[in-house]
Formats: sequence, structure tokens, C-alpha cells
Amino acid sequence: MERKNLPKHVHTLATLPVTDAPVISCYQPLVEGRLADRNAFDSRVQLLRHGLSIQEQHAFDAALARIERVLATELLATSKGLAVYSRAGEQPFFLPLQFQVSLPNWIAVDRTPNIYHLVELKDTYHRYVVMLVTEDSIRILQINLGAVTAQLWEERPDLRYRVGREWMKGEFQRHREERTRKFFQNAIEVLNQLMSAGGYRHLILAGPPSITSRVQASLPKHLQRQLIDNVPASGTSRLSDVVEATLSSFMEVEEQESRTTVGNLVHQLRTGGLAVVGTGASFCALRCGRADMLVLSKEYDPGLGWTCTHCGHFDINAEAPPLCPRCNARAFRRFNIKEQMVRDAEESDCMVEVVNQSDALIHLGGVGCLLSYRLPEECW
Ligand SMILES: [Zn+2]
Repeated sequence: MERKNLPKHVHTLATLPVTDAPVISCYQPLVEGRLADRNAFDSRVQLLRHGLSIQEQHAFDAALARIERVLATELLATSKGLAVYSRAGEQPFFLPLQFQVSLPNWIAVDRTPNIYHLVELKDTYHRYVVMLVTEDSIRILQINLGAVTAQLWEERPDLRYRVGREWMKGEFQRHREERTRKFFQNAIEVLNQLMSAGGYRHLILAGPPSITSRVQASLPKHLQRQLIDNVPASGTSRLSDVVEATLSSFMEVEEQESRTTVGNLVHQLRTGGLAVVGTGASFCALRCGRADMLVLSKEYDPGLGWTCTHCGHFDINAEAPPLCPRCNARAFRRFNIKEQMVRDAEESDCMVEVVNQSDALIHLGGVGCLLSYRLPEECW
């Protein structure tokens, strides 16, 4: 149950080969190591089970049993969200993930894992660095998905060093002042190296304002640009409370970046540049592997489309065509359009940006793509 390799897990899920057995994708909010709403879980599971054939029900039950084992024995008291993907059958697959941020109540049965909520999580909580400064220590923390994943550096200078008869009061003050200055300077140097080596783009300072303001003033220009907030904290603050406080200010910045992305999309459209909007054009750009970034509104819900079970042709219309336009076959299977778009994006290393509350994006159909090159005219 680790969260450091989230991009790797997403890729594994996006590229999982299809078998006859159904995949259960289960997202659940957790409270104190238990499901937040067990009844909702049970009724959703029953509903999904009813929609399956007898043979599929056997595979479903076996896949569900593994999820139940996690629910019974493996939930951590500190976890706030659970994502499990389970498939039985000849090529079983099982991936349970716990997070310190909440997830929606969502369960789906499909031929492939439903990864949208995991991708949204990955987009919302990038990594950032917190420098927690107190009177006697500096800690540099790497935050990933709402949890401290690495404590990069900590030092407690002995500021009371040689206090005593041999020091006159003023001399001691000057000495202490000089040591503190060097201590901050040294810590900032370490921070600088860690941020550039780790490719971090966001920094938050936490600590008593009198100290963080001083550290902020000493930051080199490029680190000041990456600084997104000063969060007040005292030496006795619990680490989890500090992380919680930094998380909300980080998410505001993430929102800001989302809006900038939408602005870029609109600008590219207006200037005849490399962008498409709407379900049809975006779906095509992703299928062709020509999208650099998929931008979608949180509310975007294009529903189900149809795919030809013979040649794999996709049709995003709600009604299935009488014949497959590509191979003339008559057998179709429904698919979730948004899930397919996100899977195509992850498969081709196209970035996914989920945008909260953007009227501009909703006005454009809730979805768009920034392109790596222009689409051919005949595409859609
Ligand atoms: Zn076909």
C-alpha cells in the first residue's frame, strides 16, 4: 500500500490487458480506518452484481472477496481514501491503494480499470516541499498526496552553546545572532540543492511568522518565486496539522494553475493554434496520440459510447450505428467515454489537467486538448 509510485500505478492500470473477467474499480472515503458509508458500499455492490451474467457474477464475487479482505484487515487508521482494483479469472489483478486524502464513493465494473478518480488525485496533489522552521530546528519535508513522504533534512543547532560565566551578555547575543544567521544560510543552501535535484516547483514555509519572514527574506530570487505561502505554526504544532494547513494553500495554487491552462487553451483556439475542444475532437486527438495535454472540467460527463467488438472502432454517439462504418460488423459494446479518454492520455504520456469550476471550459463543452501538432481535416 504505497503512494509514492502513483504515476507508475496509473500507467499499469491504463495499460492492463483486457480479459473476459470483469474488473472492479472501487473508490471509497474512509473514516478512522473504516468505510465512511458501509451501507452505500453494499447497495452499490449488489446493484452492480445484478447487472452481470451468471459467469461474470462468479468472477465478480471472487474479485470482491479480495476487496473485502482489505476492508476487514488492512485499512490504516490514518487513511482517508481507498482505491482498489480487483479482477479474478485466469489473469487475476489486484491493486489496493490507501491515501491520506479522501476519495469519492464510486464503484464500477468494467472490462478495464476505471482510473479517472486516481488521475484526478494525481493531478490535484502534486509534490511540494515544506520548510518547517522553529526556534531550534529546521525540517525540510516532501509532501506527496497529502502525506509526508520524506523528511529531507533536520538540524538542531545548540544555540545555548557555551552559555555561562565566560561570555559577557552582549558578546553572547552577537555570537548567537551570527550562529543563527549561518544556520539559516546553510539550511537554505540545502533546500536549494534538494529542490533543484528533486525537480520541485512549489515551496511553502511554515513556522512562527517572526522566523519564517526572516527566512523568506534570505531566500534567493528563484526560490522566492517558488514560494507559494507562509503558514503559521509553532514549535509544538503537530506535524499532521502543519501538513493539513499547507495542503489547502497548495490546492489554491493548483486551482490557479488550472485556470492558466484553460486560458492557454482558449488563447490557442482563438489564434488558430494547436488546440481542440469538445468531446469528438478531443477523443480523436487522444486516440491519434496527438494531444500534449487533456484539460477536463471536474463536472465533465460525456456518458457512454459504443465500440465495435470486431474491429475496435469507437463511436462516441449515445446510439449504436446499425453497422460498424469500418468493418460492417453488427456487434457493439458500450464504453465510458471519459474513462477511455483518460486511459488514452495516460497510455501516451499526455498530461491530464482536471479543472474545478471554470465557466470558460464548461462553455467549450467541458473538455479540450492542447496538441503537439495540427490534426488532419478529415479527423472528425
Ligand atoms: Zn468494426
